[in-house]
This record gives sequence, structure tokens and C-alpha cells, in this order.
Amino acid sequence: MSLIALVDVGTLLGCQVALTAIYAIVFFCMKVMYPYLRGAGSVALAFVAMTIANVLLLLSASLPPFVSIVISHCFLLSAFVLFYTGVLHFFKSPRKIRYAWALTIVASVLIAYLILSHDRTKALIFVIAISFFLLRGVIAVEIFRQAADRIFLKIFAYLMAAYAVFALNRLLFMLVVGAPPNQAQREFLQTVSVLLSVTFAFLIGLSFLLMLCSELLTLVKDESERDLLSGVLNRRGIEQKLDLELKRAGRSGQSISIALIDIDHFKTINDYAGHAAGDTALRDVVTAISCRLRAYDLLGRFGGDEFLIIFPHTTSSEALLVASRIEASVRDLSIPDTELPLTISIGLTQAASGEIAGPLLARADKALYHAKDAGRNCCRVLLHETDAEAGPQQHVILPTS
Ligand code: GH3
Ligand code: MG
Repeated sequence: MSLIALVDVGTLLGCQVALTAIYAIVFFCMKVMYPYLRGAGSVALAFVAMTIANVLLLLSASLPPFVSIVISHCFLLSAFVLFYTGVLHFFKSPRKIRYAWALTIVASVLIAYLILSHDRTKALIFVIAISFFLLRGVIAVEIFRQAADRIFLKIFAYLMAAYAVFALNRLLFMLVVGAPPNQAQREFLQTVSVLLSVTFAFLIGLSFLLMLCSELLTLVKDESERDLLSGVLNRRGIEQKLDLELKRAGRSGQSISIALIDIDHFKTINDYAGHAAGDTALRDVVTAISCRLRAYDLLGRFGGDEFLIIFPHTTSSEALLVASRIEASVRDLSIPDTELPLTISIGLTQAASGEIAGPLLARADKALYHAKDAGRNCCRVLLHETDAEAGPQQHVILPTS
């Protein structure tokens, strides 16, 4: 108790004001710089509300109790509702926030009533403890729900749960001792309470910051692997997936096939219908391909008008069936206001056991070359390097319409 007594509550509150204000600025900056980061804005507002509440508590000696207690608690409760809003946004949770706001309003009205009527200390302690316990509790429950096997989120959830239980400290004291704390005990509890509040505010702000940073990294990684025009994976993204799938197939011993698709005479579409029509044709082809793929197939833009499809757990003959459906689907497309046909050529191959991406892609490219050579608007399957020398009759030819 003597050590705790050495810590000045005013200094601690001052630290908390500085800490929450810094977090408010950091989260606002993150919101401005990365508007698509979900939850940052609400959490920034939560820290603003927390800062105002702490300033009022810091100035409590020179403020009327209504302002220093009722208004500050109203701001503190609102801060947790805003934090809860930020957590729900972050996790895209459909849960409603209105019950948390209703609890804040009811608790604030009750606190105001109990402050204005005399000698209601027990009831006041009860209302404050329960309302903070419930608000922090729902935040902890939401984070637990989303944590699954993510250890960091679990730690954050336990931290929040501990913070919720900590809200009951005065209530538990009252239940154990049988009376509200006297002046000295209140001062002791307040010092411990503010000390732990500073610690929790620091840890919770830091945890949310880390959550946003990891989300940011995921978004940046996703952006760097996506093709802006068509929305599918770009070359980097699809090549990474190919490496991954080849390793997986190597481990499980399952077949894996790939197809390189090239739009026929695409340059002519650009030249005669314009670059914008070319872009639309690219997007239409992606849609036509995507709607024929199975849930586990992967599609990426490999170059200008060239696409790569990965068919995991699939032999070349099974992949050929999917390819034929894709060909038919693309053939149904047309370039508006022109007579230009929209067709594709496909080069298909299956990976040999333990094969790496380089030779596999080279073989698919060779198969595609054969398809182009055969007059386009068709598919060629090349299973072994020797097939190339064996002549076109060795290749599986997909019938054109
Ligand atoms: P082939 O039948 O042999 O495949 O001939 P092609 O005209 O389809 O192929 P080529 O490689 O000669 O031309 C591809 C064209 O694709 C050249 C390039 O200007 C165009 N292109 C590449 N990226 C884009 C893009 O994002 N949008 C549009 N509109 N055109 C693009
Ligand atoms: Mg082309």
C-alpha cells in the first residue's frame, strides 16, 4: 500500500490523457491515410472521448461533481461503445451497436440521478461497475468469437476480459468488506484503478494498432498480387499460387494441370474498336472464364491478353472438359458495334511428378503455340516435351464449334 501511495493519481491521469490523445491522433492519421482500414475512425473517436473523460477526472477538484463524475463517465462509457463499434467494423461483424448505446444512456441517466440525490454511494458503485463490466465484456466476447486459432487475438481478448472483470473492483470490495470503501481505501483503490487503466489503455490501443497494421499488410499484399483491370490475380500472384499448388501436389501425389489462354487477334480489337473496347473485352473474357471454373481452380492474368489457369487435383483430360466449357463460353461473347469475333486459344498440360513451375509453364506455352499454329480458336494438350517433336496429330484437339 505504501508503494502505491507514492504514485500520484494526478500524474497518472496526466499520463493517461497524453497516452489516449496520442492514440487518438495515430488512429485518425491511419484513417486519413488508409480510408479503407475498417474500424480506425471509430477507435480514434473512442480515444478522443477517453481523453476528454480523463481531462475532466484530472480537473475534478475544481469542477462540480456533476461534471467531473456524470459527464466524465458518460464520455468513458461512450468511448467503450465507440471502441466496440471499431471492433465490429474491423471484423465486418453484423452485430448491432444500438444496445450498447442504450446501456450507455441508461447508465448515464442513473449516474446523474444518483449523484444529484444524496447518500447513494452503494448504488452508484453498482451502476458504474456493472455498466463498464458489460461494455468491456461484449468487446472481449466479440474478439474471442473472431480469434479462432489466432493467438494474438486470443491474448487481446483475454486482456479485454481482464479489463472487464477489473471494472467490478469496487463492487467486489463492497461485497467482501460489506461496506463501501472509506476515504483512505477509496484513494488506494483509485490509485490502483488509474494505474491499471493506464496500463490497459496502453495495451488495448497497441493491440488494435497491431490488428490494423496486420490488416494493412494483408491488403497491400493482396493489392500487389491483383490485376487492376480484370480484378483477377496478376502474374506475381498466379505464379506464387502455382509454386504453392505444385508443392502441395508433390506432397499429396495428386495430379495438377495448367492452361495458358490467349485471346485471338486481340490487337485487331484494339485497333478497330479502340483501347477501351479492348479493356472491356479483357474483362468480359475474365468473367466468361471465371463462371466456368470450379471453386478450387485459380485464374490469373499472365500478360497482356494471356491468362493462366491452375487446375489443382485434376488430370489433363478433366482439365480439358473445363477448357471446352470455357471456350464455348467465350465464343458467346461479342465486341459491341463490330463484326469482330472474340475467341481464345488454349495450351494445356499436366505436371509430371515433382515438376517445378518453369518447365511446366514452358510446356503450356508450347501447347498454346501449337493451338495458334493450328489456326487459333482451339485447344492443344501437350503432356511431354517429346510430344512437340511428335507432330500435331499427337496432341489432343478440342473440337471447335
Ligand atoms: P494473337 O492472335 O497471335 O494472340 O495476336 P494478338 O493480337 O492477340 O496478340 P499480340 O501479342 O500481337 O497483341 C496483344 C495486344 O494486347 C498488344 C497490346 O497492345 C494489347 N494489350 C496488352 N495489354 C492490354 C490492356 O490492358 N488493354 C488493352 N486494351 N490492350 C492491351
Ligand atoms: Mg493474343
